[in-house]
Amino acid sequence: MLRCPRTRRGPGWAEVAEPPVGDRIVGIFGGTFDPPHIGHLVAAQDVVEALGLDELRLVVAARPPHKEPVVAGSADARLRMVRAAIEGDGRLTASRIELDRPGASYTVDTLRAIRSTAPDLDLRLVVGADQLAAFDSWKEPEEVARLARLTVMDREGQRVSSRSAGGLDVTYDTVAVTRIDVSSTLVRRRVAEGRSVRYLVPHAVRHIIEEEGLYAQRAPRTG
Ligand code: ATP
Repeated sequence: MLRCPRTRRGPGWAEVAEPPVGDRIVGIFGGTFDPPHIGHLVAAQDVVEALGLDELRLVVAARPPHKEPVVAGSADARLRMVRAAIEGDGRLTASRIELDRPGASYTVDTLRAIRSTAPDLDLRLVVGADQLAAFDSWKEPEEVARLARLTVMDREGQRVSSRSAGGLDVTYDTVAVTRIDVSSTLVRRRVAEGRSVRYLVPHAVRHIIEEEGLYAQRAPRTG
């Protein structure tokens, strides 16, 4: 484990593998983003700074295999909300790669697709500590870890340990992210209850939610 020279752009404390010179460091941050909220965005920013990423791609999941199949917002609406949320931030991009593929969206397939068009990228897969705990249930977890180095977002109270990687011999970096206790579930529930989500989501996201009447009925998922 070596300190990556590019971490000089950020706080510089994260221990990351040294990438081959010249490769872009690109993070992949998957989620349902139903809707995207400030917890996602602040965590994304923390990861970009800690790893010195050239780009962090927010990959909108079509049918997340690890979550309930029912999501409240259409894939199209969720993608538009992510784009609206990150507009003007040159560090973050929105990816529809999983929306263009039929069937369930498996991370291993997404990473293979990215590698097939850009084999020289230094890919970092950004996951929450909750996702790491279930990592052994993912499709081809070792292959996932081979295609992209894992980065685990460590929120206070979500301490990461190697045992929680499901017993797999997987190496990962840990980035401490700002703890903001907001979830998409909370946002959907508040909208369904007629309460404001101002400050919980970016203004542009709130605008889409209101204009399109998203989540206005009883939230399908309450978990
Ligand atoms: P839901 O409430 O619908 O389950 P969510 O708020 O957890 O959604 P997702 O789109 O499922 O959002 O999350 C995508 C990624 O963002 C996951 O890795 C998750 O750990 C992370 N994440 C979600 N909320 C936060 C938060 N408040 N702070 C940091 N990371 C978060």
